Amino acid sequence: MAFLFGIAVILLLLGWFALRRAAATRQETGLPEGRLVYIDKHSRDWQPNDKPFFAPAYQLVGKPDYLVETAAGIIPVEVKSGSAPDVPYLGHLLQLAAYCLLVEETTGQPPPHGLLKYADALYEVDYTPELRTELLDTLAAIRRDREADDVPRSHDQPGKCHGCGVNYACDEALL
Ligand code: SF4
Repeated sequence: MAFLFGIAVILLLLGWFALRRAAATRQETGLPEGRLVYIDKHSRDWQPNDKPFFAPAYQLVGKPDYLVETAAGIIPVEVKSGSAPDVPYLGHLLQLAAYCLLVEETTGQPPPHGLLKYADALYEVDYTPELRTELLDTLAAIRRDREADDVPRSHDQPGKCHGCGVNYACDEALL
């Protein structure tokens, strides 16, 4: 059960918080925007990863696409198939932060940064205390919502409801 919850948390991170937090709020939190490092194919140093990490303390599980071993520690890499936005989306930042937290919890060493690889760009995103705190706040909010009797819809996008696995039981579905 805990394992399933952890999986759900990682999946929910992508969309949930990006919808709930405005760009202005993001600027207030001082989250890193990421540095554009280079535009290239995957580096040979990147090792494909097929092993999920699990952090029992946070009931969090997730599997970074790649891992890079460096002198500063293990760096997680998340690969996105689309083109890079001007600034990485908040949901992508939080997903990467979740992988950084998982590396921190399982190796005992927090990575200095993570990598977000888009089809045409690579961002190096610092794993800052602000980003870590934002992630923990998000996980806490998700858990609260999961326990709540009712949670209001957080978007106006029929496409999301169309692809939602629980739309048959949702009285706020936009179908
Ligand atoms: S169907 Fe309901 S739960 Fe699913 S995305 Fe739409 S509003 Fe959210």
